[in-house]
Amino acid sequence: MLHSDTNVHSKYSGHAGPIAVPREAAYLINRLTACGYEAFAVGGCVRDSLLGKTPNDWDICTSALPDDMKQCFSGLPVIETGIKHGTLTVVLEHRPFEITTYRIDGEYRDGRHPEQVRFTSDLQADLSRRDFTINAMAYHPGTGLVDPFGGLQDLQAGIIRCVGDAPRRFEEDALRIMRGIRFAAQLGFDIEGKTAGALLDSRELLDRISSERIRTEFDKLLCGSGAMDVLAGYRDIVAQIIPEARPMFDLDQQNDYHIYTVWDHTLHVIDQIKNTPELKLCAFFHDIGKPEMMTVTEDGWGHFYRHELASERIADTVLARLKYDNRTRETVTSVVRNHSIVFRPSAKQARKLLHKLGEEKLRLLIQLEYADVKSQNPIYTESRVSTIGAFSQKVDEVLASENCFSLRDLAIGGRDLLDLGAAQGPEIGKILNTLLDMVMEDELPNQRDALLDTAIKTFGLHTHTEDTGGRTS
Ligand code: ATP
Ligand code: MG
Repeated sequence: MLHSDTNVHSKYSGHAGPIAVPREAAYLINRLTACGYEAFAVGGCVRDSLLGKTPNDWDICTSALPDDMKQCFSGLPVIETGIKHGTLTVVLEHRPFEITTYRIDGEYRDGRHPEQVRFTSDLQADLSRRDFTINAMAYHPGTGLVDPFGGLQDLQAGIIRCVGDAPRRFEEDALRIMRGIRFAAQLGFDIEGKTAGALLDSRELLDRISSERIRTEFDKLLCGSGAMDVLAGYRDIVAQIIPEARPMFDLDQQNDYHIYTVWDHTLHVIDQIKNTPELKLCAFFHDIGKPEMMTVTEDGWGHFYRHELASERIADTVLARLKYDNRTRETVTSVVRNHSIVFRPSAKQARKLLHKLGEEKLRLLIQLEYADVKSQNPIYTESRVSTIGAFSQKVDEVLASENCFSLRDLAIGGRDLLDLGAAQGPEIGKILNTLLDMVMEDELPNQRDALLDTAIKTFGLHTHTEDTGGRTS
């Protein structure tokens, strides 16, 4: 719920609402006020509070210059985090609060950073350098909301709108392009016409922005509740950062299982899948290899044999380029590589896949497959969902019964084979893996005697009582 109707008098125009400023932030604001300066909560925390969400962090802006701030905060734990840009951090109750002097950004020559920043004593000037109206509001617990650009109204109407001239604002800092679509996806907002046009027209400027900063925004976008609409409406921006996605856009799958183009299907999977960044990435990439692997048979039917391998390769390239960490890269590519496996309600398959992927990745794969089948032709959804459910239950059963699916679970180990006279080295692993396969195939019980017996018979090892081949230990 938005709060907008309390009247508060201040030298700044605008509305006010009862925002619950945390005690520590209010203390810092009051302390600056007591020192004779202006101070306000600003930006994301004001936006989120007005939306009834809990802000991630509370940023404060002030008319005090950095040295004035230091004096005013004497005795408090102050860290000079960005003193050149006017930012100090004060840690209270283990929470960091960033306090920044009102600023006017100088000229942007590289499309990323202002050449220099100038301090100002004018709050409105500080708010005017901020990217979107909903991010350009300030709040003081005593005097209320300062909202010179209609941020509250846009918040109420669900609109992302640039502060000032949209093309110029993206020209100054192209990261704002990603931030704009990210906020639209996170908040489920529309983007105002001129801002939307400028976002798209300016998209090539994104090439100047570092991969790390793009990645952070992309993750937040994918996890947004409105991601599907934003990815659909702004796909050309997606193709700017991930050109490999473009061939999916209009590809008709010519196949009875699918009612959507590859891109629309992908967007549905992103929408359906559970909300973690890893799963959203699995969804984004799972079919990205389809365009290059498509074949059409004489009957006009489209096929995508081994597309999962192409998807894996492309995902790996893109994730590396966007500097995702190795763990995410490895997890996402493994899940994508295996997403064409057809699950059956079989303990044997559950054991084998647990062995191959491990529990964590197998559970991610199950989530991907659920979202995948829910985004295909609905006539097949029910039966496929129930098969995945049955498989998932087998996985639970195998895990609960400690049914054997890894060498660790096998009732014998390398030591036992050495005792039977097996040669130290790779042979041991080979024998153990063969025995494990037999157990997983239900050809052999996971029991010590049976395993030793098979090892002796199949691999020509000796029993305990026989000569151990001269080994002394
Ligand atoms: P989040 O919820 O992701 O933290 P946020 O709006 O708080 O969203 P921050 O990156 O923490 O984003 O930035 C704090 C504030 O600084 C923003 O609300 C906005 O006013 C301003 N800001 C941040 N990045 C930019 C930018 N690239 N251009 C202009 N203003 C920006
Ligand atoms: Mg923030």
